[in-house]
Amino acid sequence: MADTFRAVLISRDEDKNQTVEMTELSPSDLMDGDVDVRVEASTINYKDGLAITGKSPIVRRWPMIPGIDLAGEVIESKNPQWKAGDKVVLNGWGLSETHYGGYAERARVKGEWLVRRPDGFSAKDAMAIGTAGYTAMLSVLALEKAGAKPEHGPVIVSGATGGVGSVAVSLLSKLGWDVIAVTGRSSEHDYLKDLGASEIMDRSELSEKGKPLEKERWAAGVDCVGSHTLVNMLAGTKRHGSIAACGLAQGFDLPATVMPFILRGVSLHGIDSVMAPKELREEAWGRLSEDLAPEKLRAIASEVTFDEVIETAKSLIDGKVRGRVVVNL
Ligand code: NDP
Repeated sequence: MADTFRAVLISRDEDKNQTVEMTELSPSDLMDGDVDVRVEASTINYKDGLAITGKSPIVRRWPMIPGIDLAGEVIESKNPQWKAGDKVVLNGWGLSETHYGGYAERARVKGEWLVRRPDGFSAKDAMAIGTAGYTAMLSVLALEKAGAKPEHGPVIVSGATGGVGSVAVSLLSKLGWDVIAVTGRSSEHDYLKDLGASEIMDRSELSEKGKPLEKERWAAGVDCVGSHTLVNMLAGTKRHGSIAACGLAQGFDLPATVMPFILRGVSLHGIDSVMAPKELREEAWGRLSEDLAPEKLRAIASEVTFDEVIETAKSLIDGKVRGRVVVNL
């Protein structure tokens, strides 16, 4: 490995103006950690778009290498759990917030943050899944642990053409659910049907203030957008159904009433991918290797070069990116 490596760096001046550039670093520039990883692939999540555009306060120390996900191979390790050549994946754990992230050819991280990459997943496959796909799986696991089953009725997925939504639609349809995919993009109905959606709902049906309780229409749901959409999803959930809340693309507010909870026993499950414990991560990655059909993954993912990462992250925030984007380092 060369002495220097390329990395994207976010910096801030005294007036808190943010700049993002491709730069050259050496291993001594990296932050503390006990495992060095040669990063082969990363990805662009919504949160990466927010960090690169500075639209939300994701970065909490400057300068920062963004990228909340990475996949690659261990170069050297002081952690007994890992050795050179091990194939690993890392999602979250403060990458791009407080610790240098995946948009660099080399990363130094804590060994306990790493998960062994399941056999059969290349680094690019793992990043086609990324935090978005692993969050979709965490949401599915939360619904299953709450007792939700396909025979109870359909499942609804909001933000369906996004990264989390696309993977959630694919997983849930493979698991036997009738999936109602909620989207604002009329041009993507065929894409969602190909992923396994049995019904498409326009996002405008859920995005405005509705009634505290609506007709019972779905038994479970995965919500990527928050705000009125999540509230309306709760209002239309069948008795004793469950919704997993993982996102805020519409807003982080929750203008809800308690009616679905106390009159229908509906449950709301929060999903946190960043600090999820290692055992849950391993369970999620194990299930992804069983339940996500490779052809669906290929349909969801597109690829960009390392040089295109900054521009693509901006497009994602402008709502111009479908599915998942793999960054090939
Ligand atoms: P994407 O940008 O890929 O997808 C978001 C989708 O939300 C869009 O594709 C769009 O879907 C929909 N959307 C966008 N704006 C609006 C709006 N104003 N109203 C309603 N729907 C909208 O992001 P990701 O899939 O990567 O992430 C989805 C959400 O989940 C984000 O908020 C992200 O921060 C969050 N997240 C949370 C995690 C956690 O640990 N809890 C982990 C990962 C992500 P469409 O065009 O189909 O309507």
